[in-house]
Amino acid sequence: MRIVFIGPPGAGKGTQAERLAEKYRIAHLSTGDMLRAARDARTEVGCEADKYMSAGQLVPDAIIIRIIQARLEEPDCQRGYLLDGFPRTITQAEALDEMLAQRGTPLDVVLELDVPEDELFNRLAGRGRTDDTPEVIRQRLVAYREQTQPLLDYYGERGLLKTIDGLGTIEEIFERATAVLNDYA
Ligand code: AMP
Repeated sequence: MRIVFIGPPGAGKGTQAERLAEKYRIAHLSTGDMLRAARDARTEVGCEADKYMSAGQLVPDAIIIRIIQARLEEPDCQRGYLLDGFPRTITQAEALDEMLAQRGTPLDVVLELDVPEDELFNRLAGRGRTDDTPEVIRQRLVAYREQTQPLLDYYGERGLLKTIDGLGTIEEIFERATAVLNDYA
């Protein structure tokens, strides 16, 4: 199973991604988690990425694409994976398509978690992560709207997009997600 999971910041994507990867026994690849680990370990890539993350901006495509390319080589990705937070730009989506075409392993489905923007700001502000100041939150929502939302058309045109309502309890949303993903398991 190869899944892309798309949703705005604050939609509860990370929680669902973790549970879904566990249910289907596939790798959970969160570029946000990878970047935070690199930042905390003060690697060169981590320090470079932090400049963008702490401003609510997207890290440059070239950095992210290199990280994902290396990660997909690892053995735990053989069984499949759920990409959480990648791709986030059309350039990243095109790079992913190319990587997967070379391997002959196309995506099965792109799952969108749909949450209205006014709901997101409140959720993000309540989360208390150090990178969650109001200005940074606002910037991250802008980045989603301008750079990531175009992916919905990109994958929609390719017949890969499935959208679920992201409002409700963790359990309700998990049920909706598995109702879609079970078709590909
Ligand atoms: P997340 O935990 O997915 O919300 O990611 C946290 C931050 O990491 C984002 O605000 C971006 O600065 C950066 N980031 C994560 N994934 C990507 C990506 N695919 N492309 C660019 N930046 C990313």
